[in-house]
Amino acid sequence: MKKHNFSAGPCILPEEVLQKASEAVVNFNNDNLSLIEISHRSKPFVDVIERARSLALELLGLEGKGYHALFLQGGASNQFLMTAYNLLNKKAAYLNTGTWSSKAIKEAKLFGDLVEVASSEDKGFNYIPKNYDIPTDADYFHCTSNNTIYGTQMKSFPKTEVPLICDMSSDIFSRSLDFTNFDLIYAGAQKNMGPAGTTLVIVKEGLLGKVERAIPSMLNYQTHIDKDSMFNTPPVFAVYVSMLTLQWLKDLGGIPFIEKVNEKKAALLYAEIDRNPLFKGVVAPEDRSIMNATFQLTNPDHATAFDAMWQEADINGLHGHRSVGGYRASMYNALPLHSVQALVDVMQEFERKAQ
Ligand SMILES: *Cc1c(COP(=O)(O)O)cnc(C)c1O
Repeated sequence: MKKHNFSAGPCILPEEVLQKASEAVVNFNNDNLSLIEISHRSKPFVDVIERARSLALELLGLEGKGYHALFLQGGASNQFLMTAYNLLNKKAAYLNTGTWSSKAIKEAKLFGDLVEVASSEDKGFNYIPKNYDIPTDADYFHCTSNNTIYGTQMKSFPKTEVPLICDMSSDIFSRSLDFTNFDLIYAGAQKNMGPAGTTLVIVKEGLLGKVERAIPSMLNYQTHIDKDSMFNTPPVFAVYVSMLTLQWLKDLGGIPFIEKVNEKKAALLYAEIDRNPLFKGVVAPEDRSIMNATFQLTNPDHATAFDAMWQEADINGLHGHRSVGGYRASMYNALPLHSVQALVDVMQEFERKAQ
């Protein structure tokens, strides 16, 4: 039986998606060729990438609203520099909510002045700063919607006149937002959409073309828009599996459906973290992520016993990020509610045995 996979990334994917993907690797479209050995310019693959781009826009409610969807390479990490390369003329504003924001800030500093509007580093990034000012002369404002490592999530986004850029790697397609408020969204596929190897980038029309510097072709969003994400060979397998996952989500009822499931999963686990005296949550309750729940043992000496117990229960990927320790349960779209129940059962059994 499949393990309960709480891995933070690469993430759990739906069983039916894995099944279809494995079949396509051997025999794609019943054409007696593998998906990964046909031309990316052949019609069967062009159909796949076009379907993936249109599903992404449709699920986000952006179809026909003047947005481009791109499937690029280099991970979300490459977007840290591409955003700045393409959009930063003089000055950009960043919200620092953790490791990923910090890395984005580091790259952007290579291209211009940087204003860190607020940071939660003072408390180990365990909350989301609020009530900060965004300079109106900034070229854009950049934030990270969900902090995969710390388990915090922005529940609202600032109203600002400057373009809004967001790293949504670990919560894209998990909750309803008015995505038309954003000018550029990026997300590495491997957190909530597919395998590693491709990054979804959503770009609003009219955003580009305002910086003076020359931009190398591969790092220029306009190149990829003009070439429909086919400027160079796209990562065909990662795009195909992402497309299957987006189709799976659409068939279930899209974001409104999965959001309810995600809220249910998060409520179940956080209730147990708060109830069970052997565990404690580590982030500000109002900023808790519905995707990545972080928690600790109240007595760290219990770690060996607890670790043995959840591993015995076929649970995978529960250790916290190496930089913060403790535990992290990543509850991405494809994780079923019964896996969260299995974890809660282990936590309750652990409490009974400790008495
Ligand atoms: C994982 C992650 C990244 C880095 O993604 P790569 O694809 O490995 O470059 C960036 N931002 C967030 C929020 C992440 O969770």
